[in-house]
Amino acid sequence: MSDEKEFAGKVALVTGGAMGIGAAVCDLLAERSARVAVVDRDAVAATDVASTLIGRGLEARAIATDVSSGAEVSRCVAEIVDAWGQIDIVSNNAGIQRYGTVESTTESEWDEVIDVNLKSVYLVCHHAIPHLRKTRGAIVNMASVQSFATQRGVAAYTTGKHALIGLTRSMALDFAEYGVRVNAVAPGSVDTPMLRWAISLDENPQALTEAIRDMHPLGRIADPKEIAETVCFLASPKASFVTGSTLIADGGLLLPISGAP
Ligand code: NAD
Repeated sequence: MSDEKEFAGKVALVTGGAMGIGAAVCDLLAERSARVAVVDRDAVAATDVASTLIGRGLEARAIATDVSSGAEVSRCVAEIVDAWGQIDIVSNNAGIQRYGTVESTTESEWDEVIDVNLKSVYLVCHHAIPHLRKTRGAIVNMASVQSFATQRGVAAYTTGKHALIGLTRSMALDFAEYGVRVNAVAPGSVDTPMLRWAISLDENPQALTEAIRDMHPLGRIADPKEIAETVCFLASPKASFVTGSTLIADGGLLLPISGAP
């Protein structure tokens, strides 16, 4: 089957779908014939993404949801199943970045990062897996290079992203017997509103942008579409024997041995 119709008949739930990587995932899945639920707490931006897709003759609906709330996620999953009868693909992208060490991070900041970046994946999968069992569906979680390494001052973010790999592997094993595959993608730096916001906090954003580019052996920051391609691969039958894996899409960022000549 050609890539164009790869997801014909499939229903996808995409969190963080209003912006950045999640919006690129919505675009590619819909372009390849999936019906796409654009799930995001930003109702206006989610509606914009869904309306643009519908305007192109594709199938989408926006569902305003705070994915860190179990009640909202439950309602969201029910709305998708009421509308389209099934769920085949879950792409968990919703995420936030906060800065701080364990000493400087407040309890509420810690809870916010862990709730949005980690607990949301539990909640979405908890409510969606009964439907994914019926369709022998696929889950793709958005991890990070910070699932494997870290930098100074991102304690909660690093913790959540490391734990997300454990959650991915645990779910992959628990649901393999039902034909449900669970994988993750670990990007390096991607040109999204999140990265631009992080760069804007620096006193010299231009120099930081160049330094970030140079950190990646491929010499650039990723386009969100490049990460969406990896999500679509893992969600598709092309990855039918892949489960519990994390696809590192980091432009080579994790390759060099620190301090090596
Ligand atoms: P982004 O900020 O551009 O988009 C994130 C989206 O998530 C936004 O639309 C936002 O409204 C939504 N969101 C945040 N909290 C939510 C909540 N509680 N409920 C529902 N929606 C919520 O971010 P991005 O750069 O596209 O990041 C997407 C994912 O990729 C995140 O998990 C992030 O950690 C990960 N990631 C990003 C990069 C990067 O360089 N941009 C690198 C590695 C991993």
